[in-house]
Amino acid sequence: MDGVIYMAYLLAAVLFILSLKGLSNHESAKLGNYYGMAGMAIAVLATISSDAVTAYVMLIIAVGVGSYIGVQKAKSVEMTEMPQLVALLHSFVGMAAILISWAGYISPAAHELTGAEQTIHLVEIYLGIFIGAVTFTGSLIAWGKLNGKISGKPLTLPFRHGLNAGAIIISLWMMTYFASNPHTGLSTFMLLVMTVIALALGLHLVAAIGGADMPVVVSMLNSYSGWAAAATGFMLGNDLLIVVGALVGSSGAILSYIMCRGMNRSFISVIMGGFGTDGSSGGSADAGEQGDAVEASADDVADELSNAKSVIIVPGFGMAVAKAQQVVKEMTENLQKKGCNVRFGIHPVAGRLPGHMNVLLAEADVPYDIVLEMDEINDDFPETDMVLVIGANDTVNPDAMERPDSPIAGMPVLKVWEAKQVIVLKRSLASGYAGVENPLFFKDNTRMLFGDAKESIQSVLKSL
Ligand code: NDP
Repeated sequence: MDGVIYMAYLLAAVLFILSLKGLSNHESAKLGNYYGMAGMAIAVLATISSDAVTAYVMLIIAVGVGSYIGVQKAKSVEMTEMPQLVALLHSFVGMAAILISWAGYISPAAHELTGAEQTIHLVEIYLGIFIGAVTFTGSLIAWGKLNGKISGKPLTLPFRHGLNAGAIIISLWMMTYFASNPHTGLSTFMLLVMTVIALALGLHLVAAIGGADMPVVVSMLNSYSGWAAAATGFMLGNDLLIVVGALVGSSGAILSYIMCRGMNRSFISVIMGGFGTDGSSGGSADAGEQGDAVEASADDVADELSNAKSVIIVPGFGMAVAKAQQVVKEMTENLQKKGCNVRFGIHPVAGRLPGHMNVLLAEADVPYDIVLEMDEINDDFPETDMVLVIGANDTVNPDAMERPDSPIAGMPVLKVWEAKQVIVLKRSLASGYAGVENPLFFKDNTRMLFGDAKESIQSVLKSL
C-alpha cells in the first residue's frame, strides 16, 4: 500500500509543477488550474487511504463542513474581494501549521524518538509553529487592511526594528534550549512563549507595512504559508507536503521579488515596513495648487474616439469595482471595427492582486494579443492618439517619476501623460490605494469623465 501512496504522491507533485507552469501564461492558465485540482484530489485521496488514517467519521464531517463553506465562499466572492480572501486562506495555512505542530509535540509518538532524530523532530516542530504563527497573525492583519477593517497606515512603533530583531533572537535562543532538553516542563513553557512571541511578531511585521506595499505583503505571506507547510511536512515525514510547501514558498518569494522590482522597491525595505500611507500624508501639493481638472462629457469622448487611430486602455482597480470589463470589451470591438488600433496597458500591480486586470480581461474574452505588459507598451504613448484610464490611479501617477519626495517615488508607472490626449474615468478626484494625490488629473492634455466606469463607458458606447 505504501508503494501505491508514494506513486500517487509523486504523480501529485508532478501535477503541481505542471500547474505552476500552466499558470505562468494566460493561454495555459485554465489547464494549469485543472492540473492543480487533479493533483490536490490525488493527494487527498492518497492520504486518506493511508493506514495512519483511521478516524473516518470525523474526517468525513470535517471535509463535508469545510467543503460546504469553501464552495459557498467561492461562489459568492467578488473579484474585488479576492485579495482579502487569499490573505484569509493564508491565515488558515498558518493556523493549521500551529495546530499540527503542537499536536506533533504532544503526541506520544514524539516521545519515542531518541538522539539526533529527536532533536531534528523538535526543531521541525519549533519552526512549524514559529513560521505558522507569523503567517497566521500576519495574514489576519493583511486581511483586515485589505478589506478596510484596519487602517492601511503603517504602524511605526519606536524601536520597531529592534523589537522584531529581539523577538527573533529570543526565539532562536529558546529553540536551542528546546531542542536539547526534550519534553521538560521548561521546554514546553518555552514553546508556549515562542508561540505567543511569533503571533505578536506576525502582527507587528504586517501592521508596520503601509497600503502601497500591500501587494508584496500578500505574495510574501503566500511564501510564508508555503514554508510553514514545508516545515509541517518535515515534521510529519510527508514528502508531498514538503514538495508542495517548497513550491508555494519559493514561487511566493520569487513573485514578491518580481513585484518589488516592478515597484522599484528593495525587498528588505518592504519587509521592514513603515512605507505607504492611507492618505493622510500624501506627497503631492494639493489640488488647488495644481490648477483645475477639466471635465469631459461621454459625447465628447465618443467623438474623439471615433477620430482616433490608436487608443491605449489602462485599467485599474476601479474597473474591477465597476465590473466594467464586459462593456470595455464591447467598446474595444466597436473601435476596432472603425479601424482603430486598440491595445491595453497593464501595470504589474494594477488592481488588488497580481494579475487582477489580466483575469478580468480574460473573463470578458478580450484577445490576449492586445493586452500588453507595462514594459511592452510604455514607450508607445507619445505615438498614441488617446489613452483611456479606466479606474486606475497610483499606477499612472507622474509623481512616481517626477517627485523624489513622493511616497511612491521610484515606482515605475505607465507614462500615459505622454499621449496626445488622456481621458480619466473615475468618480471623483480622490486618491488611489497609496493615498497620494495624482497631478495627472490636472495636466493640459488630460480630461476627466466623472462617474462609475461601467455607466460612463455605456454612455460612450451609446454615442459611438
Ligand atoms: P488605485 O487604487 O490607485 O485607484 C483606483 C481608482 O479607481 C480610485 O482612485 C477610484 O477613484 C477609482 N474607482 C473606484 N471605484 C470606481 C468605479 N466604480 N468607477 C470608476 N472608478 C472607480 O488603483 P490602481 O489599479 O491604479 O493601483 C493599484 C494600487 O493598489 C497600487 O497602489 C498598488 O500598490 C495597490 N495594491 C495592488 C495589489 C496588487 O497585487 N495588484 C494588492 C494590493 C494593493 P474614485 O473613488 O474617484 O472613483
